Amino acid sequence: MSNTKVLVVEDEPSLLETLDYSLRRQGYEVITATDGRKALETARQQQPDLIVLDIMLPGIDGFEVCRILRQERNTPILMLTARSEEVDKVVGLEMGADDYLTKPFSMRELTARVKALLRRVRLDREEATTSAATTLPAVATERMLFGNLVIDLSRREVTVQGVVHHLKPKEFDLLVFLARHRRIVLSRDLILERVWGWEFDGGSRTVDVHVRWLREKIEIDPSDPQRIITVRGVGYRFEA
Ligand code: CA
Repeated sequence: MSNTKVLVVEDEPSLLETLDYSLRRQGYEVITATDGRKALETARQQQPDLIVLDIMLPGIDGFEVCRILRQERNTPILMLTARSEEVDKVVGLEMGADDYLTKPFSMRELTARVKALLRRVRLDREEATTSAATTLPAVATERMLFGNLVIDLSRREVTVQGVVHHLKPKEFDLLVFLARHRRIVLSRDLILERVWGWEFDGGSRTVDVHVRWLREKIEIDPSDPQRIITVRGVGYRFEA
């Protein structure tokens, strides 16, 4: 991880210092910015591997920085927020943030999230490379474990209480997307965009149908879902 560059954007000096110190201790190269404008400048010049971005910043706020950066590059973004309202999480994800951390948080949690996010991005890239080169066998042997639910990313298989289920491609993609953004409320529109893509012109009902199919396969009692929770009026949330 010695060459991994992390840009930390935070206007509060003591928190910035703590973040800088903790990330350096983990072996990351850390660059910092204390407002939105500098964050954009630094991100463009230094091309970090990951950005830790506070929402409340002087001038251009974190949401805006995130939105602008997303149009330019797909550097993973971990947002820091003082507000825990789920609505903020939805907004942040719509802006393109990859993960969230609500203040106050421990440095241990932060570095764990940074590590997980970098790992996830690396896996996504490997997956993309693997699916682009269809003649090569899948090399990733990564699995996501949630108690009795195991998602095998390389085999695209799901095991529930030891029983293997082969999901349809979109069911699997949807499950992985939900699981990767666990505990965050995801709107139907966001799910549609990320799982089906911009060009898909089916309605958000598609998401509901696939969630229903998924629940039949992964929930112990599909009529009382414990994994994929419906958030009334918004969308869904995956519980680990
Ligand atoms: Ca701040």
